Order: sequence, then structure tokens, then C-alpha cells
Amino acid sequence: MKAVNHREIPYNFTSADDRLIINHLFGPAVWEDLEELRSQRVTGRSARLVMRCMGDLFILHRNPFLYQELIDSPRRRYSFFRTMGKDLDIIAATAQRGRVVPERSDKVLSLVRLCRERMRELQRQIGGAVARRRAIRKRLGAEIGAANVHFDPFALISHATDATDWRLHLPVAVARPAAGEQVVGLLAAIEELGLFAIPRGGGTGLTGGAVPVRADCVMINTEKLNRIHGIETREFTGDDGQVRQMPVLRLEAGVITQDAMQYAERSGLVFATDPTSAWASTIGGNIAENAGGKTAVLWGTAIDNLLAYTMAMPGGTLLTVRRTNHPMRKILHEDRVQFEVCDAAGTCVRTIDLAGSEIRKPGLWKDITNKALGGLPGVQKEGTDGVIVDAEFILYPAYEKKLTFCLEFFGPDMDEASRVIVEISEQFKNQGEEALMALEHFDEEYIRAINYKFKAARSEPPKAVLLIDMVAHTTTQILRGRERLQALMEGYANTEIFVASDADEAERFWRDRKRLGAIAARTNAFKLNEDIVLPLAALAEFARFVDARNVDEDLYNKESVVREVMAYLATAEPIEDPDWLEAKIPKADELCTAALGRIAGREPATLRTEAHLRALKDDLLELFRGFPRISENLARIFAEVRQRRIVIATHMHAGDGNVHVNIPVFSNDRAMMERAA
Ligand SMILES: Cc1cc2nc3c(=O)[nH]c(=O)nc-3n(C[C@H](O)[C@H](O)[C@H](O)COP(=O)(O)OP(=O)(O)OC[C@H]3O[C@@H](n4cnc5c(N)ncnc54)[C@H](O)[C@@H]3O)c2cc1C
Repeated sequence: MKAVNHREIPYNFTSADDRLIINHLFGPAVWEDLEELRSQRVTGRSARLVMRCMGDLFILHRNPFLYQELIDSPRRRYSFFRTMGKDLDIIAATAQRGRVVPERSDKVLSLVRLCRERMRELQRQIGGAVARRRAIRKRLGAEIGAANVHFDPFALISHATDATDWRLHLPVAVARPAAGEQVVGLLAAIEELGLFAIPRGGGTGLTGGAVPVRADCVMINTEKLNRIHGIETREFTGDDGQVRQMPVLRLEAGVITQDAMQYAERSGLVFATDPTSAWASTIGGNIAENAGGKTAVLWGTAIDNLLAYTMAMPGGTLLTVRRTNHPMRKILHEDRVQFEVCDAAGTCVRTIDLAGSEIRKPGLWKDITNKALGGLPGVQKEGTDGVIVDAEFILYPAYEKKLTFCLEFFGPDMDEASRVIVEISEQFKNQGEEALMALEHFDEEYIRAINYKFKAARSEPPKAVLLIDMVAHTTTQILRGRERLQALMEGYANTEIFVASDADEAERFWRDRKRLGAIAARTNAFKLNEDIVLPLAALAEFARFVDARNVDEDLYNKESVVREVMAYLATAEPIEDPDWLEAKIPKADELCTAALGRIAGREPATLRTEAHLRALKDDLLELFRGFPRISENLARIFAEVRQRRIVIATHMHAGDGNVHVNIPVFSNDRAMMERAA
């Protein structure tokens, strides 16, 4: 297997290749010139020196510890820039000498000029860093206290990216305000210094919203805004016109979501915004991303449970946004959802009236595509319009009764499974009695990956599994719910339903769901993820599409195995008896060609099985018995190429049509990643 070297820049310990780095630092035109020069590489030394200069510029851009070292040590700084200057002189001199091809020399010289410019810029920046930081600390410190302004490398590196691992720039500083009121002044001070503000909660975001996407960003870390003010009771009017008392939680934006959940739980209540990242995410991040988790099927996402929040806005204003009509349930498509926006004096400056279908398109239960939401500040804005400093959420009484169900879907495709999922979600709309609290599905790729022990007495594994938590306030309600669900399933011949007999068994049902990480065991836990939001009714069509892709990819990979084997045998050299080997090659080719024909035949009985490859491998190993090195290499090719097959696995979160699509890939295999993408 011939590997293409995408990295000549030293210290490139990133997922970026040279092209990405150079595009980022110098722009695409420079990359094109560099590629051209590299393709006609005349002097190896110059090329190495150019890459070293670029590597040095890049690593200082990326690594705050090295950057800090140059700030702290004028001696090191001097020697670093002197060496780089000398290297650039050597490259320029070599280019001048070799003016045989003037166009090439000009390109090299312009590259040297550019590196020199960047070097001087960096030199100026590092030389002026102490004074600049002093000025920033003085101005921001006046708002939040000097001790809450950080420049140390550890603070900078830990705010350089979020859960996306997307890295572009280091922040210029990290600010940790300790009180909500400080944030208005902080934003004004950042603006005054000509810098840019990015709010950050737990850094678990998957949209890159907390990534410094340009130079000169100050990260506003909200971790000190972590006070939970308490629970109070307020009056709400339900759909039936009845006024009821409901508990409301008031808290600051930097509170960890799980702390809010546990706080509510201690009072027998539920804080219903529960992303899987709750142990690390914050309330501000939940609002800014409109997060939701396992219980979204029952209570929706952050916007469904949010009653009010205060935001510090650029320009020195403080806004309070308040929902004026919460009916004590999640938002439905036919609802009208009203908010009022008030200034710091409490004067209502604007009202926002949204249709439920503007929040989520008809047919979708998770949909964050309408970022504007009629100009509603903060929600789904990924921190781009202001900083949320505190919030109020409705809490729900915890359900006392819970039953866990496991549904296994059999048959040739996902048609029945998707009809079942649609029917269940229609039949079990939340009416305040028995209701579905969690609905999680995983497909046959996961079933295979986790070695799922299916419960049905059937001879083939299921096509998909659905786990359901049903909740109710009374025994009568939960038993009625169970009967209704079981009766519903009687109409579906390919679906088997199982009820957990107690909490331990329910735990065991859910344990399978927690093992889904096994999908990427083959690729050392690395995978590409994409969330796709579908109307539930389209699930079957999507599953058919995924199935077809998986079959194509499997065949493509099997053919690659055979072709790699053929390519290897064409050049293989044994330790001894080359003539004997030579005589066997035509037979090996014949076996390989026959295997290719069988693979391309797409026989249903052998599709997605290892039958043809296993047979070919056995035949070849038999043919080359007595040639240990050849046999060893053949076995290695079979294993290595097969490891690189692309498999698309899906699981649906929260029964809301939010399908997580995962493709395990090797992080060091560019071809595999490109094919997967
Ligand atoms: C393992 C894992 C599981 C996840 N599971 C789920 C899930 O089940 N459901 C789900 O919806 N998401 C999930 N996510 C995504 C993520 O956790 C959520 O989006 C979460 O709400 C982000 O919160 P955070 O505090 O970490 O925000 P950050 O990552 O810190 O920031 C996210 C965005 O919010 C902005 N922001 C943060 N705080 C504020 C503030 N105070 N004011 C204004 N803007 C602010 C930031 O600028 C950024 O744009 C998961 C992520 C991971 C890594």
C-alpha cells in the first residue's frame, strides 16, 4: 500500500495536513506556489528549510507554551528569530544562485518575503505581548477584577477549541466574570480594546460556537456564574384554561446542567433539559444551542422549558427575555409561542410571537435550522449576539412509576420499525398521564458491533432495537400504558416487545445503549459523526439508503482486498524457490479473478458475509503453503485492507428524528476519511 505523505511541516501533530496549515497561515495562492515548487524540488535543503520556517511559524501560532517561552526569555527569542532569519537568507541566496529558471526563483523569493513578513509580525507581537497583556488586564480587570483575566498557556490552550476539536487561533485572553452584572461592562471593555468576545460554558458544543475563529478573541468563561438561586412557585394556565402552581428554577448561566438536574431531583422535581453531556455542559450553552436529551420526546429541548433569561448585550445593555404563555408542556407545532424582551429598566421593548412550526418544521421534533427564531435573542444563537447570564426554567413533578420496554424489529428492512416508531409517538402524546420519556433506537450495525444478545426466540438477528421508558404518576396509569403499547404491537408481525420486570432488568436493557461506542473499536474509537434530522416517517427511506451504501462499501472494500492481493503477488519475492512461486502465480490470479466475479455477483446469501474472502484466503494460503513470508503478507493484506472498510451506523436519540450517523475511520488514513466524508 503506497502512502501519500501529506505532512512535511515539522511539528504537525494535528489532524490538519500541510495544505490546511498553509492555507490558514498564508492563503491558498501560497499553497499552490509551494506545491509547484515541491513537485520540481531541485534543492532538498532549501525545501526542508522552508518547511521548517513554516513549521516554526505554525507551532508558535498553535502552542501557547512555546509562545510563552519566547515572551519570558529574550535570549531564546533572539536566538529563535536569528536562526529563522539565517535560514531564510540561505533559501533566498540559493534561489538567487539558481536563476536558471527565473520563474521558479521568483516564486521561492516571494515565499521567503512572505515568511519574513510573518516572522517580523510574530517578533513584534511577542516583543509587545507583555505590554499588551498589561493593558488588557488593566481594562478588563477594572470590570471583573485583575485576577479573573488570564493569559497563562494552560488557560489559552484549554479555550482554543471545544468538543469539535476545530482549532484556528489561540484566544488573546480568558476572562472569568464572577457576577452576571459584570458582563455588560466586560463586553464594553472588550469592544473598547478592539477585541472580540466569545462566550463559553462547558466547551462541549459540537458546532464550533466556542472556538476562537479569528485573532484577538477574548473568551468569556462563565464557570464562575454558577449560583443556583432556588426554586419558587408560580401560576401557569394550562390548555384547559385551569390555573396551576408550578415550580420554577432560577439559576446562573454557568451552572453545570447536571447540578441543576440534581438540585431539582432533591425536591422530587425534574429539570427537563438533559443533553447526554449534562455532566459538563452549562445552562448558557444549553440555551445557546437549544440542547435536549433523552427526555426531549416528553419535554422538548431548552426552548420548551425556558421561562426567562437575562443577557448582556454588546453596546452596554442588559436584556431580559420572558416567555409570556407557557402551558406547562413542550411546544407543539400548532402552538403560538410568545416572548417579551425588556430593557434593564424593565420596559418591554419588543414582543416576539412564533408559530410552533417556526421553532420546529412540521414533522420534525428536533430542528435547530431556524437560527433566527423571529429575532429571539440568545436561543440557538451559539453565543453570537450576547452573553446569557441567568435563566429561569419550569420544573416538572418527577414521575413515580416507570416501565422500560425493548422492541426488536425483524424482517428485511426498516419499514415496519419506522411505522411502529411513528405510531407509538402518535399514540402516546403527553396528556399528563402515561407518557413516553425516552425513545432510543440503534441499527443493525450497532447490533453487530456491540454483539447484542437479542431477546426474541428467532433465528436471525434483529434489524434494529428500540428502547422505551414509559412513565406515569399512578400504578393504574402505568399498567394501562403497558397494555396499550402491547396491544399496539399485536398488529406488527415482525416486532417483538419485551418489558423489563424490575429496575435491574431495565438497567440491563439500557446497558446495551451505553455500549454503542463499540462501533469504533476497530478504528481506535475514532469516527466521523453527523447528526441528521428527519421526519420520523422518513426513517425507513433513510435506513434503505444507508443499507444500500453499506452494501456498496462492503463490496468495494472486498474488491480492494482482492486487488491488493493481486498487486502484491505480481511483485512478491520468496526467500527461496522463485521458480516454484512463479509457477503458482497464474493459479493465484485465476482464484482472485473468480473471487472478484463472485463478489460482483451480489448473491443475497453471501452479501455482507465474509464467505468469498474467507474461501479465497484459504485457497491462497493452501497454494502458497511452504512460502511462509508470502503467506504472512497475504494474511496481513486480508486483515489490513478489510479493517479499512467503511460502515455507516445510525442510532436515533430521543425519538425525535435526530439520527446520529457514525462512520468509524482511522484518523491517520486520509483516503478512508475522504471516502467516508
Ligand atoms: C459527548 C457529548 C454528548 C452530547 N450530547 C448532546 C445531547 O444529547 N443533546 C444536545 O442537544 N447536545 C449534545 N451535545 C452538544 C453540547 O453538549 C450541547 O450543545 C451543550 O448545550 C453545550 O453546552 P456548553 O456549556 O458545553 O457550551 P459551549 O460548548 O461552551 O458553547 C456552546 C455554544 O454556546 C455558546 N454559549 C455558551 N455559554 C453561553 C452563554 N452564557 N451565553 C451565550 N452563549 C453561550 C458558546 O458561545 C457556543 O457557541 C453533546 C456533546 C458532547 C461532547
